[in-house]
Amino acid sequence: AGSGKFFVGGNWKCNGTKDSITKLVSDLNSAKLETDVDVVVSPPFVYLDQVTASLTSRIEVSAQNSWIGKGGAFTGEISVEQLKDIGCKWVILGHSERRHIIGEDDQFIGKKAAYALNEGLGVIACIGELLEEREAGKTFDVCFRQLKAFADVVPSWDNIVIAYEPVWAIGTGKVATPQQAQEVHVAVRDWLKKNVSEEVASKTRIIYGGSVNGSNCAELAKQEDIDGFLVGGASLKGPEFATIVNSVT
Ligand code: PEP
Repeated sequence: AGSGKFFVGGNWKCNGTKDSITKLVSDLNSAKLETDVDVVVSPPFVYLDQVTASLTSRIEVSAQNSWIGKGGAFTGEISVEQLKDIGCKWVILGHSERRHIIGEDDQFIGKKAAYALNEGLGVIACIGELLEEREAGKTFDVCFRQLKAFADVVPSWDNIVIAYEPVWAIGTGKVATPQQAQEVHVAVRDWLKKNVSEEVASKTRIIYGGSVNGSNCAELAKQEDIDGFLVGGASLKGPEFATIVNSVT
């Protein structure tokens, strides 16, 4: 881990029921978490209220998506104002499942990020290459293109955490090696230095996501430019998620 405060997010995706979420919240409320770590969980929209009302204030809550502007006649969407109204502090944007399954593009994601940040939500901004892009030697091109779409529109970098999530590692059990992850994290930091500022490059947390679990987190956390994790599957198990939070080095 680098000098920024370690950040661990749990992305529950489209999983859970009232009962399973009650149990997960209770496990998280009783878990021992290192004090020097920002911890965030991201439940499905329909359980956000339940979670914000029952989860310890030690852990902040994130949405998994938000609308590009003020709410209104946008059937099926959820606005940033509504998220703030129920106590949500963060939103995950640009997740690979939204890019590649739902079809969101860089510009659409950029608009969402700009709106959320302007309204005071923190943004977990996800980037990452597909397997065929990595195999074609395009990892940096893809990550920098996705990063630029954020950089072109965001009002400031104060409330952004960048999540590098290689798509081939998400939900596959194929975690990137610590060296593979570190190589991209350092390149992302270098891109920020050249294209935004030295200050933003050194202050912005760059977290890794893709099959992180209780057994592989410690080695990844040792890498200098890995400032935390975005965790999918393993965040549905309270004790394992706590192990990942406590892997800060
Ligand atoms: C994610 O959804 O952001 C993720 C990293 O998932 P998993 O940990 O399950 O690979």
